[in-house]
Amino acid sequence: MVTEKTQPEVNIGLVGHVDHGKTTLVQALSGSWTDQHSEEMKRGISIRLGYADATLRKCPECDEPEAFTVEERCPEHDVETEVLRTVSFVDAPGHETLMATMLSGASIMDGAVLVVSATEDVPQAQTEEHLMALDIIGIENIVVAQNKIDLVGSERARENYAQIQEFVEGTVAEGAPIVPISAGQGINVDVLIGALEEEIPTPDRDETLPPRMYVARSFDINRPGTTADELLGGVLGGSLSQGTLEAGDELELRPGREVEEGGQTEHRPIETSVRSLQAGGRSVEKVSPGGLLGVGTGLDPSLTKGDALAGQVAGEPGSLPPTREAFEMGVELLDRVVGEGEVEEISTGEPLMLTVGTATTVGAVTSAREGECEVSLKRPVCAESGAKIAINRRMGARWRLIGVGTLR
Ligand code: GDP
Ligand code: MG
Repeated sequence: MVTEKTQPEVNIGLVGHVDHGKTTLVQALSGSWTDQHSEEMKRGISIRLGYADATLRKCPECDEPEAFTVEERCPEHDVETEVLRTVSFVDAPGHETLMATMLSGASIMDGAVLVVSATEDVPQAQTEEHLMALDIIGIENIVVAQNKIDLVGSERARENYAQIQEFVEGTVAEGAPIVPISAGQGINVDVLIGALEEEIPTPDRDETLPPRMYVARSFDINRPGTTADELLGGVLGGSLSQGTLEAGDELELRPGREVEEGGQTEHRPIETSVRSLQAGGRSVEKVSPGGLLGVGTGLDPSLTKGDALAGQVAGEPGSLPPTREAFEMGVELLDRVVGEGEVEEISTGEPLMLTVGTATTVGAVTSAREGECEVSLKRPVCAESGAKIAINRRMGARWRLIGVGTLR
C-alpha cells in the first residue's frame, strides 16, 4: 500500500562511539522495510549514504508503549498497524577520522539518536565529540539510546544510566529521554519509537519556496558494460530543505563544475533536469522536504560518479545562494577539544577544514581577529549568509572540531 506517509519526512541521525550499536539499531528499526525494496537506485543510496528508511507504526489496539512498532501487522491482535510517519535514518560513521562525514550528515539531520553502550564507561571519545558536534550544528532534538542492556546486569545498567545522566548535564542533550534498549535483541525498541515520536517532530518546512536540495552523495547507478543507449543519467542523493520537486523540473547545481580556461580555473553552475525521483524506497512523482531522496537527472553519469557532486546545492535555476571562493565568518570556539585540551585562537595563515551544509572544503585563513576571520577556499561553496560552518583544525594526524562559524 502506498500512502503519502511512506515518503520519509524527517532525517534522524545515529551518532555515538564506534561499536556502540548504531548500525544494529538502524537494522532493528528498518530491517523488514529495506528488504522488500531492492531497486537499484535505492540500494545505491542506502549503501553510500548509510541511510535507511523506516516506517514507524502503531497498533490501534495495544497500549503504549507496546503499540509502537515497525511491523505492518500486530502479532498480538492480528490487525494492521497504523502508519505514523516514515523516517530516514542517517547512520553516521563512528570512527574518529570520519568526523567530517558526520558533520556533513549533521547538516541535514532534524534530530539525533545518541547511542551509548551500557558495557563501557561514559563518555567514550566519540560519544563526547559527536555530542559537541550536535550542539554546535544546533541539533537540539535528541534521544539517548542506552544500548546493549542485554549484556549487563541491572546494577551495572543503573550505574551506566547515572553516568549518562551526569554526562549530558549542561549539554544540548540535557533533559533528553534516555531509553535503555537492546538493538541486538529488540528489547524496548517500542519505547524508543515512542520517544522519537515525542522528541523529534517533523519540522515545518515551506513547500511554496523554490526547491533547494543539499546533495550529500552522487553516483552512477549503471552496471559496468551498460551500452550507451541504455545508460541512465547521474543520480543525486540528499534532502530537500524547502520546496518540492517533480520529474521534468529544471535544476541548477552550484558551485557546479570546475572548468579551466586560459590557465584559470573557475566553477560554473551545471544545469540539468529531473528525470526520476525516489523516496521511501520507491519511485514517486513528486517529493516534499525531509527524508532522503534520490534524484535521477539528465547528467552524464561520469559527472556524478563516486560522490563527485557531494556538497553541491541543487535547486531552481537562478534561485540558489551565491558561490563563494572566500568569505568572512563570525567565530565561536569550543573551550576544549576532546583529548587535546584548550582551543587556541585561530591565526592568520593556518589551514582550516570547513563543513558548510553538506560541503567540506579546506580554507586558508587570510585574516583573523578575535571572534571573526576571513578564509580563502581551495574549493568554493554555495552558501547563504547566516549559514552555520563547522570549523576543524589539524591536530596531529587528524582534523578536530574546534568551533562554529556563521557566514557573514
Ligand atoms: P556501530 O559501530 O555503532 O554501528 O556498531 P554496530 O551496530 O556495528 O555494533 C557493534 C557490535 O555490537 C556488533 O557486533 C553488534 O552485533 C553488537 N551489538 C549491537 N547492539 C547490540 C545489543 O543490543 N546487544 C548485543 N549483545 N550486541 C549488540
Ligand atoms: Mg556502524
